[in-house]
Amino acid sequence: MSAIAERLASVEARVARACERAARARDEVTLLAVSKRHPVAAIREAMAAGQRSFGESYVKELAAKAAALPDASFHLIGHLQRNKAREAVAVARCVESVDSARLARELGVHADAAGASLDVFVQVNVGGEAQKSGCAPSEVGALVEAVRGERALRLRGLMTVPPWHEDPERARPFFRELAKLARAHALKELSMGMSADLEVAIEEGATLVRVGTAIFGPREVAAR
Ligand SMILES: *Cc1c(COP(=O)(O)O)cnc(C)c1O
Repeated sequence: MSAIAERLASVEARVARACERAARARDEVTLLAVSKRHPVAAIREAMAAGQRSFGESYVKELAAKAAALPDASFHLIGHLQRNKAREAVAVARCVESVDSARLARELGVHADAAGASLDVFVQVNVGGEAQKSGCAPSEVGALVEAVRGERALRLRGLMTVPPWHEDPERARPFFRELAKLARAHALKELSMGMSADLEVAIEEGATLVRVGTAIFGPREVAAR
């Protein structure tokens, strides 16, 4: 087994155990393998081990990988500028980082023009951190409405990256807050939980966990 296949198997085991502990069915939680800043060869190894869905932070990097790997499907999980909405629609299966009504409009227009249907999550900055993207919890209602007004967008739920802390338990209140916001807006899916805290996220209702380091190892230091 390759190193990536081995790590993927151990992440899969963590997800399965967490589902069991939370009395949830394993198929309620999707594992997204975050491949940003890892080469196409690494994604191929994960695909050989059965993984099909990958997360990328940059449209350009996602587009290059999608062109090389037609059988993989990609979620954009990084901040998206409106002038890159058209390209994102062309290459991503899902955009998890919708954080403004203007971006929702732009994605909706391009998806509609392409005759496509794009899955999206509204990203919420639950920790209110200045350096993180995502809308404020108080803006979720308006943003959800804006997305629902776009016929080419399919709103799946809410996504968040909580403030980083060594102790994964510290993420729990933020995951809980996201779940509460989703309930308030009748949204079913929660994209939350990463390498360090996926168990806590699954306990709090995550339907999609985004796991990078635990599958692919450490990333290159330089951001692109
Ligand atoms: C990089 C990234 C991840 C994966 O983080 P790991 O700690 O490597 O598992 C998940 N979500 C987002 C939004 C990211 O940018």
